[in-house]
Amino acid sequence: MGCGETFDKRSLIRIVRNSEGLIMVDETGRMNGRGAYICPSVSCLETAFKKHGLERAFKTPVPKEALDSISEYIKARAT
Ligand SMILES: [Zn+2]
Repeated sequence: MGCGETFDKRSLIRIVRNSEGLIMVDETGRMNGRGAYICPSVSCLETAFKKHGLERAFKTPVPKEALDSISEYIKARAT
């Protein structure tokens, strides 16, 4: 999803939509719900958001707040 670059799957970030409909980073990789993988890159996340890749993956509109929190997570992890 996103840029189409290939990364080691272990370095990918799993985004999950849980049973309550919340979209968040799955830090454990084990949360229940529909998941989507994204590169650990803010630009890739933004590309995915602009192309509606996240909405397609989750079959629901993705709120800006969810995007912001995922973006914060990626930035914190990138340091
Ligand atoms: Zn990417």
